[in-house]
Amino acid sequence: STPAANGTTGKRACVVGAGPVGALSALYLAKDGWDVDVYELRGDLRMPGNKSLNFTKSINLALSERGISGMRAIDETLLKEVLAETIPMYGREVHNTKLPASVVEKRKEAGYQYWTEGEKQEYDCHGRFIRSADRHRLNEQLLERIAKEPNVRLHFNQGLKKMDLDKKVAWFEYSAKDAGENPEVTRVEFDFLLGCDGAHSTVRRLLQKYVRMDYEQTYIDTLWCELEIYPNEVTGDFLIHPNYLHIWPKQTFMFIAIPSPDKTFTCTLFMPQSRFDEIGDSPDGLIAFFERHFPAVIPLIGRDRLIKDYFKNPKLPLISVKCSPYHYKDSCVILGDAAHAMVPFYGQGMNAGFEDVRILFEHIHAHSDLGTALSRYSEARKPNAHSINDLAMTNYVEMRANVTSSIYKARKQVEEFLYDYLPMLGITTQYALVSFSNTPYSQVITHMKWQKRILNTVATALVFGAIGLVAWITWGKRFAGKGDALFAIAKDVWHRVWALL
Ligand code: FAD
Repeated sequence: STPAANGTTGKRACVVGAGPVGALSALYLAKDGWDVDVYELRGDLRMPGNKSLNFTKSINLALSERGISGMRAIDETLLKEVLAETIPMYGREVHNTKLPASVVEKRKEAGYQYWTEGEKQEYDCHGRFIRSADRHRLNEQLLERIAKEPNVRLHFNQGLKKMDLDKKVAWFEYSAKDAGENPEVTRVEFDFLLGCDGAHSTVRRLLQKYVRMDYEQTYIDTLWCELEIYPNEVTGDFLIHPNYLHIWPKQTFMFIAIPSPDKTFTCTLFMPQSRFDEIGDSPDGLIAFFERHFPAVIPLIGRDRLIKDYFKNPKLPLISVKCSPYHYKDSCVILGDAAHAMVPFYGQGMNAGFEDVRILFEHIHAHSDLGTALSRYSEARKPNAHSINDLAMTNYVEMRANVTSSIYKARKQVEEFLYDYLPMLGITTQYALVSFSNTPYSQVITHMKWQKRILNTVATALVFGAIGLVAWITWGKRFAGKGDALFAIAKDVWHRVWALL
């Protein structure tokens, strides 16, 4: 392409959505010399009072290796600045005992540092950790960073309405409160459009007119409501341990708390609609529900604040979207939640979105033709995006139920032991592969299936070996001389068991 006067390649990229994925994409484009225009439906969240999405305050996100790699590959300094404002979380703290509110009150009066403590389950036997990041602040840091690039222009209160992907033109409508009945519409010409406009993506909807897109959308029967634990009024410190993701698991629902740098915890109550209906709209119903299921949480949040926040905050749905392909010719691609919104239980939504950006640009750099790069990207990304959607769905059961099961804990210990002491066997944990590596998500699933088979085989062989040994000691003499027949029976049993595993 012909270089432009301002030192760019002269090619115009249009990014729809200035959420975390849109902002990171803009940075990658800018560094590659594109002229970048970012259009965001909402106001500029760097301005006081502007919120990100429809969250009450902001949510805390678990940032892990894939998200970190996405930033590291483009700007180490940005990554350092982001990480400096995060809090390490070394594992889950599972609050499984039904600690009465009175015990927590007593600990509070006695001046305990942490008012309640649960069972700590580390994420990794090598001490690796994930990080709690404030979504609003992270998004702000990314916007501040791209605003420094001379070839990036940010346009707020501009919602995508229409696009013509063959003529490469898009139309954006002014969406601020003062827009009136006939909002101004801006016509934008581009060479490449990136749809990073989230789970309810307009780009994705319009893209479906151009490509035969397979599309699957699921709402799970769980709503989430955000609450908050404030710092200790006397010491100003965290009320529970800041380096863990706290879970109060209840089999079919759960309450979680994630630390923030301001010593608060962003909490989320995940429950089926029926449980919210059970609470109803009376404060007494709410307190009775918490006394029954999460008594220790009442003093942590404070009775009055719990009532106020619970009734003020929305109860939001959780959507999971799978689709493919993600692109049209050399004109458009969708990334992040627009391509694969997932339920939040593996803490991977944004991490996977940042990985999309890194991998997309690897393809762009590997091919001289953008159309081929997008096509290869779509092909390669599909199995991985679909896999993390599935993993996220199954991890909900792990968080709300399995964390309390002895079989789950025993299996985790065996895996961690082998991972730690016999790494040459290739045994690892699923959590480590997802959160501490860049192993493609589809390979994580394949690896875990293989590992399950191996571990089950070893466990079965040990059980059979033990039974055989006991039998030999007990009745060995009776079977002397019948070794071949016994061996044939054992072989037959083994084949049947192997087929079952
Ligand atoms: P979004 O963050 O949705 O941003 C899209 C942007 O596009 C928005 O700013 C929106 O205003 C704008 N937009 C929308 N429509 C238009 C339009 N027509 N025109 C212009 N702009 C438009 N992820 C993790 O990695 N770790 C976690 O621990 C984690 N926890 C989560 C907990 C909860 C409760 C939820 C709900 C999500 C969680 N996620 C987590 C997921 C994470 O929030 C998302 O994956 C991430 O925000 C996706 O980023 P995005 O930029 O693709 O989309």
